Amino acid sequence: MIRASCPTCGDVELTTRDVRVLLCSTTYESSYAFQCPSCRVAVAKPAEARVVDVLLAAGISLSVWHMPAELDEAKTGEPITYDDLLEFHFQLGSGADLDTLLAGGTARWLENAGPQDVV
Ligand SMILES: [Zn+2]
Repeated sequence: MIRASCPTCGDVELTTRDVRVLLCSTTYESSYAFQCPSCRVAVAKPAEARVVDVLLAAGISLSVWHMPAELDEAKTGEPITYDDLLEFHFQLGSGADLDTLLAGGTARWLENAGPQDVV
């Protein structure tokens, strides 16, 4: 059994199958996550390397993830606005398919987007 703390319920007991260790391969920050067996809320907490070592030694599974590549893309043009989003929403609802909208580039956010932004 593993004892962890839910922000709502306090201390809860978990099995090794209830917990996952999460390691970001971009920042090397780690955390552990579980769903509270009492209130079902998803809980994630940062974990230092020594805690990760203990959890992995106890048989808890490790999930490695990475930051999305979009974070490294050059940002050009003005940020999209709520009006842009609303316009795009209406264009999607007009019956045109997404490929046609992307090819037409009628939305301002598409006109301002660089080629790396529309893939
Ligand atoms: Zn709870």
